[in-house]
Amino acid sequence: MGSDHVTDPGKKVGLKPCPFCGSLGGEAVTLHYQIWCNDARHEDDEHTIWFVSCEKCGMEGPRKWSRKEAIDAWNRRHVHEA
Ligand SMILES: [Zn+2]
Repeated sequence: MGSDHVTDPGKKVGLKPCPFCGSLGGEAVTLHYQIWCNDARHEDDEHTIWFVSCEKCGMEGPRKWSRKEAIDAWNRRHVHEA
């Protein structure tokens, strides 16, 4: 109960490679989500923080309130900082 911290492989959710070290989305780059409310009834988007991180260099993308936003933010960053 509560404070679950789960990861999805980047390959599964279409993440681009790390903009800093170039690690591939399907390997070191993963999508995380963390439920911050201890009440199990609140396990929905409004109580879940999503972010992408790179296991290799420790880079973390911006924290967002939805899976799609977190993925979009990471993928956009890759384009801008190419
Ligand atoms: Zn990296």
